[in-house]
Amino acid sequence: MTSPVWHPYAHLKSQSPAPKVIGGEGPRFILEGGEQLLDATCSWWCMIHGYAHPRLVAAIREQAGELCHVMLGGLTHEPADRLARELVRVTPEGLDHVFFSDSGSVGMEVAMKMAVQYHRLRGNPGKHRMLSLMKAYHGDTAGCMAVCDPEEGMHSLFSGYLPRHHFAPAPAAPFDAEPEAVSADLAALRAVLEQHHHEIAALLMEPLLQAAGGLNMTSPLYLKGAQALCEEFDVLLVFDEVATGFGRTGKLFAADHADMAPDIMVLSKGLTGGYLGHAATLANDKVHDAFIGDSPAHAFMHGPTFMGNPLACRVALESLAVFEDERYLEKIAGLNRLLREELLEDEALRRHPQVRDVRVLGATAVIEVKNAADLEGVANLARARGVWLRPFGRWLYTMPAYITPEEDMRHITGVMKGWFQ
Ligand SMILES: *Cc1c(COP(=O)(O)O)cnc(C)c1O
Repeated sequence: MTSPVWHPYAHLKSQSPAPKVIGGEGPRFILEGGEQLLDATCSWWCMIHGYAHPRLVAAIREQAGELCHVMLGGLTHEPADRLARELVRVTPEGLDHVFFSDSGSVGMEVAMKMAVQYHRLRGNPGKHRMLSLMKAYHGDTAGCMAVCDPEEGMHSLFSGYLPRHHFAPAPAAPFDAEPEAVSADLAALRAVLEQHHHEIAALLMEPLLQAAGGLNMTSPLYLKGAQALCEEFDVLLVFDEVATGFGRTGKLFAADHADMAPDIMVLSKGLTGGYLGHAATLANDKVHDAFIGDSPAHAFMHGPTFMGNPLACRVALESLAVFEDERYLEKIAGLNRLLREELLEDEALRRHPQVRDVRVLGATAVIEVKNAADLEGVANLARARGVWLRPFGRWLYTMPAYITPEEDMRHITGVMKGWFQ
């Protein structure tokens, strides 16, 4: 019997039946029938501790016995208060105010609404559009779709339904680029700001790593340069760290590579270690204080039912504690060394006629091919070798759980390279 479950991003006619997962442990999940798959993607990049982590499971159990949910409108509770304080502590200096929501997309919607209302409250109602980057991905809700790459992104079908924003070219200078190479990217950003700043509320970006738009990596100098441009043109800087946050780029946050803080930062995915859906939009005093005033228009009109859910906050607190207690940044540095050695330094792979580029940043690696068709069948081959790989478009990538042991990691890179042998 076919299941009534409608799967995401799936072509209904050609999709094969989805394997049923019955459990998991560490970097692997287990299918009905006993097959075990090593998850090279840690479930859309969020299960950073792997499956069934005892401390995370215990935290949820314990919290469930105390308080599963209560509204955050007019009330508060210990897990929400504590998590907000912890996020202020671990994020870059100055992000002192935390607005909770229930998913990365909603966290970005909150950021965009905050930016528009900020300018309205300061007497600039004309600044109501966003500036986003080509190759961006910020989520699947309408507001977010409108700031995803309008051409290569997956939402071009909906263009008639979406508000229009501005776009600058995706940065092309790599992570370790010289300042001169970055200045070309910044000049392109400046050109759009010069022309349209009077209607731009915020510049949005996935700092250092444009993830779902093709794992495009860029330099910390680009972040710094973008911040200076935002100040010059009275535009708020929003970092969407939904994918990059919690270690993915090698530091706790991508912003840490540039030693800077944006005006607004959005976190989700790794926030709860993937154990429950949740998000946080952090803002600095400049943004927050603009909302202090006497008129009804000073209230921020947003409030997801499940914002600050106690179970989600509690498991997020435990996730952060494990991250620090077990020195995850060192584990990530180890994964990075391995990924560089196995993929980046493999000359045969880099020179393979189908391969356009190989990139590694933190615990992220991608083999970009010239034609998407060159990756057809790789997921099946990987599964036959015990690995769950989900390439999309021209990108064969891994974003493993940080607890993935070295031997398992080499198996994943072996399967990725094996496709090209
Ligand atoms: C996944 C993702 C989102 C959307 O998060 P959801 O929880 O799926 O709504 C937004 N921005 C980035 C950078 C993401 O990777």
